[in-house]
Amino acid sequence: MSLTLDEIQNFKGKYPKQIWSLFFSEMWERFCFYGMRGMLVFFMISQLNFHEKEANLQYGATQAFVYAFTFVGGLFADKILGFRKSLFWGGLLMIVGSLILATDPHKFFFLGIAFTVVGTGFFKPNISSMVGQLYKPNDSRADAGFSLFYAGINLGALLGGYLCIAIGKGELLGDFISEGMRWNIAFGLAAVVMVISLINFVFTQRSLGTIGLQPGHPLSEVKSAPIAKWKEYGVYILSLLFIPIIMKMVSVPEYTDYFMWTVGPLTLIYLFFEMSKVNSSERKKLWAALVFILFSILFWGIYEQSGGSLSIFAAKNLNKDLLGLDPNGVNNSGGAFFIIFLAPLIGLLWIWMSKRKIEPNTIIKFGLGFIFLGLGYYVLFATRFFADLQGITSLNFFTIALLVITLGELCLSPIGLSIMTKLSTKNLQGMMMGMWFLASAYGQYVAGIIGAGLATTKEGATNYDALITYTEGYKQLALYAVIAGVVLILLSPFVKKLMQEVK
Ligand code: GLN
Repeated sequence: MSLTLDEIQNFKGKYPKQIWSLFFSEMWERFCFYGMRGMLVFFMISQLNFHEKEANLQYGATQAFVYAFTFVGGLFADKILGFRKSLFWGGLLMIVGSLILATDPHKFFFLGIAFTVVGTGFFKPNISSMVGQLYKPNDSRADAGFSLFYAGINLGALLGGYLCIAIGKGELLGDFISEGMRWNIAFGLAAVVMVISLINFVFTQRSLGTIGLQPGHPLSEVKSAPIAKWKEYGVYILSLLFIPIIMKMVSVPEYTDYFMWTVGPLTLIYLFFEMSKVNSSERKKLWAALVFILFSILFWGIYEQSGGSLSIFAAKNLNKDLLGLDPNGVNNSGGAFFIIFLAPLIGLLWIWMSKRKIEPNTIIKFGLGFIFLGLGYYVLFATRFFADLQGITSLNFFTIALLVITLGELCLSPIGLSIMTKLSTKNLQGMMMGMWFLASAYGQYVAGIIGAGLATTKEGATNYDALITYTEGYKQLALYAVIAGVVLILLSPFVKKLMQEVK
């Protein structure tokens, strides 16, 4: 029997049961995505003979395009495909991309990556929007649901990020897989898990009632005329046409700059156009959403040092005093590891506080997110006080910084997903979720610029000098984060007004 939206949203207990199914589909998708992302730079350098700088630039470009495409994926979901079909199409493209890479990663590397970029754009924002629809607009349990969902994201990220590259390098199953096949199997694994994600979603659909149906479907929540079939096929064809374009754009670093400088203003103009069509109360909420989106760029810009300057810092300036673990391994996966345990707990904390009417609202949570981020970066700065004369400092202490940064992430990232679904009008859900992720694309971009600014150690400088330069930079970033947090908290009465009844 098909459930009505009301029946789904009036669930008893802490979480709607459908959230577990969406959790698993997203977990496998993130496995595929982070599995692939984790292999990119290493593969380009060791297998395609790219220089380090070139490989890093292309990696950055891929990341920017992935998150920029979420806007396109969200927009087409709202207008033409609906969340379910978008997710399915995105998943298929990701499978094709991974299979291409599994067949011949050396020959078809950028083709496979381009498929994955477009596929992720269609998949990623729309599954998050569906999580939001499991809740009534003012259900105080939504943030906890998104926190749980976020644990799924990170479980997939951790498993995929670890397993794929370990297989590719031959560190895992090396005795069973011949050397010439390791990368094929590693990319093939990404395809397999993506198939699992989609099969899981096929079963999930049955319990989703009307959530995610195509606009114009007789049962769809947003009432509109049926969508002509040619439009739907048009989207499929258009997205395929983007693939050669992305291949080209990723390969020339300047194109990423042009792209980033044009796409942001264009999406803003489009958002303002959509804003002109809604009523004033809806418009105010969209303005509030934009405030969150803009602040999140700064958050990710600082946070994403983990893939850039912090990985260099980990390699050069950290010892192995944490159980003998490799510092880069800890830097890459420590955050995800903490999130898997902390996200559900923090979710329950929100529910507990809400029952006692002391739950902070979204703006304060965002403010706290920045303050934790800042404190985490102050801890990174403080690693210098534990350094020896060679500039080597404590991994233990570094890990405490990761933990504090993770607390910040949990106050901002899942809450951001949740608030996007609450502040968007029904027919702009996908696009606004896409904009939220587009901010991540800018965050990645800003992170690269900040990271390059930090790497100013002169030729011939010692390891100790590098430690001082980097930690000085982290102190600056810590200050910016704390200032942003305080500004948000000061702005809270103003943003609250824009948000109206939404918490
Ligand atoms: N790590 C989270 C994910 O993969 C958040 C990414 C982001 O918004 N930058 O979904």
